[in-house]
Amino acid sequence: MINIMIPGADELMFRNLVLDFNGTLAVDGKLLEGVADKLNALSSSLDIHVVTADTFGNVKVQMKKVKCKIKILDETDQQLQKLGYIAQLGNDSVVAIGNGKNDALMLKHAALGICMIQKEGASQESMMAADVICNNILDALDMLTNPLRLKATLRK
Ligand SMILES: [Mg+2]
Repeated sequence: MINIMIPGADELMFRNLVLDFNGTLAVDGKLLEGVADKLNALSSSLDIHVVTADTFGNVKVQMKKVKCKIKILDETDQQLQKLGYIAQLGNDSVVAIGNGKNDALMLKHAALGICMIQKEGASQESMMAADVICNNILDALDMLTNPLRLKATLRK
């Protein structure tokens, strides 16, 4: 668990990290350098889940060295499938990270939603739904292990 006190807001108590794959952890279907090590380091404090449409059909191979659960979505209404996934974990226990339109609802309803831009860009809907927007997944993951950064960004 990761606890973060944000002045002027409820205490955040994260147990789960739920991530989109393409555009978030990967570009063009390839896991970005440095991501596997950071996720494995975070896996001692958070359960890690990758929820993806698996556009390139390779998420299981790309994530094989990462301690995580993988959920591959079917084609219909992926926003609702991602939202349903975090709901069964408990929205308040979830940090969600994603970049696409199908991430918007989970970013909005998670305790903390982080929208990624990176190389693929972010959907406008997801940017508006998120609490924090980051350029780079390594920066986003570092925020979870350096809570003072998050505190500085989110304090009222
Ligand atoms: Mg994506």
